[in-house]
Amino acid sequence: MSVSKLFVLAGPTAVGKGTVVSELRRRHPELFVSISATTRQPRPGEVDGVHYHFVSREKFEELIERGQMLEYALVHGANYYGTPRGPVQQCLDAGHSALLEIDLAGARQVKAAMPQAELVFLAPPSWQELVDRLVGRGTEDESERERRLATAKVELAAQDEFDVVIVNDTVARATDELEALMGLKPVE
Ligand code: 5GP
Repeated sequence: MSVSKLFVLAGPTAVGKGTVVSELRRRHPELFVSISATTRQPRPGEVDGVHYHFVSREKFEELIERGQMLEYALVHGANYYGTPRGPVQQCLDAGHSALLEIDLAGARQVKAAMPQAELVFLAPPSWQELVDRLVGRGTEDESERERRLATAKVELAAQDEFDVVIVNDTVARATDELEALMGLKPVE
């Protein structure tokens, strides 16, 4: 029997957190992955309530004031992102592990509030690889890319604060490692 635990996956922009989490969910559809709230605009193909809860700044600030955010941060100096507390707590109370995919500031808040949480850092194989992935993704303009790379430099320097570092060399291998860490049975 595995014990319920909160896992936090963080790492720099474009390192592939979303892809690794998608692969883990594909293998384990029952796994609880928190849906964050954000004030940023949806990207093409993103669905409200699936990828994020897209909310106004007023609504986000109201959620903070009501104590309904487990953590939150102003990411890349532009938009608020945060983890709604209720669903995560319910999942843990029911005896299941939960996974959050959040930024460094958020990961630190979770560790401060819940020291038993396991902080996992997803690292790129190299700096150049990270730059190539961000440019290749093509979802940000030049100034947004520069802003994200500046944040990434700071985030990479914080790896030592994490309980575990997983290098995202290939999605399959990084997912295997996260799966094992979370005590999930590998699927055939
Ligand atoms: P994106 O705009 O690319 O979806 O996400 C930008 C950044 O926000 C990523 O680094 C992602 O990990 C972070 N992020 C997403 N959801 C949350 C959240 O709930 N809390 C915090 N602190 N960061 C988040």
